[in-house]
Amino acid sequence: MLKALHDVDTTILNQVAADYGAPLYVYDSARIQSQFERLTEAFKSVPRLKLNYAAKALSNISILRLMKHLGSGLDTVSIQEVRLGLLAGFAPEDIIYTPNGVSLGELEEAAALGVQINIDNLSVLEQFGSRHPQVPVCIRINPHVMAGGHSKISVGHIDSKFGISIHQIPHLLRIVELTGMKINGIHMHTGSDILDIGVFLYASEILFETAKNFKDLDFIDFGSGFKVPYREGDIQTNVEELGVKLGNRFNKFCEEYGKDLVLTFEPGKFLVSQAGYFVARVNVVKQTTSTVFAQIDSGFNHLIRPMFYGASHEITNISNPNGKERYYSVVGYICETDTFGNNRRINEISEGDLLCFKNAGAYCFTMASNYNSRYRPAEVLWHQGKAHLIREHETFEDITRNQVDPVGLFEGVESAVNTK
Ligand SMILES: *Cc1c(COP(=O)(O)O)cnc(C)c1O
Repeated sequence: MLKALHDVDTTILNQVAADYGAPLYVYDSARIQSQFERLTEAFKSVPRLKLNYAAKALSNISILRLMKHLGSGLDTVSIQEVRLGLLAGFAPEDIIYTPNGVSLGELEEAAALGVQINIDNLSVLEQFGSRHPQVPVCIRINPHVMAGGHSKISVGHIDSKFGISIHQIPHLLRIVELTGMKINGIHMHTGSDILDIGVFLYASEILFETAKNFKDLDFIDFGSGFKVPYREGDIQTNVEELGVKLGNRFNKFCEEYGKDLVLTFEPGKFLVSQAGYFVARVNVVKQTTSTVFAQIDSGFNHLIRPMFYGASHEITNISNPNGKERYYSVVGYICETDTFGNNRRINEISEGDLLCFKNAGAYCFTMASNYNSRYRPAEVLWHQGKAHLIREHETFEDITRNQVDPVGLFEGVESAVNTK
């Protein structure tokens, strides 16, 4: 059933895990390419379309290079991501810097590197515009539209910290006029799930209305929020329908505006989620009075989405793909609750088997940590029928690297604790 959603087969994953060792992440470049092409095709009616891949979803330099090769630009949220993008070979003008709540200094640093900056609050806009009126700036608008139903990933609504409220447009215009700065782009990113195209188009209308206030626009950036299926039956964004509806509306706006603007998107999850697989070995099969636990050689230090967002990642047993299906609770080794999935029907699991987590391309490795002083896993790119190691497993040196151990600090001093 799930074969329809994912294409890398178990033989390949088993081989890659045998060669590079689990736990590890495997990414399928063909899947990334087909997603990129699907989105491009959906908006083919728009003369000037720009996709800026959101680096934070999966920021390995080889992935960034692949995106550049496909013709993508880059959306970044920190100065370090900007630097990664430059290192990967992106031209500064193909990078947009869309941070939230960063210092004026960091924005100035990005602007000095020549990347397009995007400002999302009036305080910094006024300061930046006063000091650098010649640097064109994109502004992030909050249209106050609720997208999706999950409070952690809806960023356009009234209480959200993201963007400049549409109700503050008069103040924004005053700042632009007084500083003489140039606004060359306008942007929104309403949340991570476009479930209802009608809601998205409604938010877009607010953006078009706002855009009319600015005479020097080069682009309108609609952010992202393309939803991909995580399990059978999940609703996904109908990008083809969105492409037709928003594309036509955008072209009409450009006619009224009197200029062929660039329509920009910043997809992260859409491009890489389904291309990723996380493979981990089962350490222990533990029967309790209420369930059977499969405990893997991993935890939320490697894949936090199930615990952080309640995300449901499909789990399969790639060591026994034809075994009898049984119910399991798949958990990790972290000394806290770290449940990957409850009551999952999985082909019978034995200790030592390899489990595979699907949709492990977006916000998985990039959210990994060293909690419990564990190593972060390796990453492998499956490209043109071959596995390429793109990040090594960490080692003990990675855990101790930046720790400073002042010599003699606790030597020759009596214990502070009374042990008598
Ligand atoms: C995270 C982010 C994205 C990507 O969102 P996805 O849901 O992964 O497509 C796009 N734009 C901005 C500004 C972001 O912060």
